[in-house]
Amino acid sequence: MQTPLKRHIVMMGAPGSGKGTQSAILAEKLGINAFSMGDILRGVAKGTSKEAQEVKKLIDKGNMVPNKLAVRLMEKELLKPENAAGYILDGFPRELPQAKVLDKDLASRKYRDYNMGVDLVLLLQVPDDYVIDRIIGRFQCAKCGTLYHEKFKQTSSFGICDECGCKEFTRRADDTYETVVSRLRTFRSVTAPVIPYYEQKGLLVCVDGTGPIDVVSEKIRKIVGY
Ligand SMILES: [Zn+2]
Repeated sequence: MQTPLKRHIVMMGAPGSGKGTQSAILAEKLGINAFSMGDILRGVAKGTSKEAQEVKKLIDKGNMVPNKLAVRLMEKELLKPENAAGYILDGFPRELPQAKVLDKDLASRKYRDYNMGVDLVLLLQVPDDYVIDRIIGRFQCAKCGTLYHEKFKQTSSFGICDECGCKEFTRRADDTYETVVSRLRTFRSVTAPVIPYYEQKGLLVCVDGTGPIDVVSEKIRKIVGY
């Protein structure tokens, strides 16, 4: 039996590591979907079911979704027929218990001859000060939403959006030094234990996440082999 390409992929990395961007690029190249827990929750919350109301309540209160519910919602999505060819999990599993349940459940599901279990975990590695620089320097055109950065991607002419000529820009309220440091701390205490778990299973590949987006995505292309 021929070994298929890796198509059941977990993308891990600290906040600001670029995992969302790289997940989206990889998903497009492989012709599969990328999922983050946030997207799924927002999708579920739009519904009218009892579960939808439960999720909406949690989001409104700013509470984390319990592990069991998080995994159940994610699996429901992944096991839809349109995702049979693969998936990319952007920042999920977020905690070790989620990883264990997901593994157990997906490994028992098959699509043709292949099981649906995670077969590659990419860890985008970036130093903390890099993440801090990257996040607190970013701003966005108020009109068209184009993203810029004080250090890495200035507008061509100062104070004017390259795309639409707008002169107003916005920043996310939570892109502050304190918030970023606190998110990094949470990543280390809550999410980092997932890393050795996948390493022991022989699934983990580390990627240097510093540098331009296309340089990082080229490294990922070589690992995934598309
Ligand atoms: Zn603009």
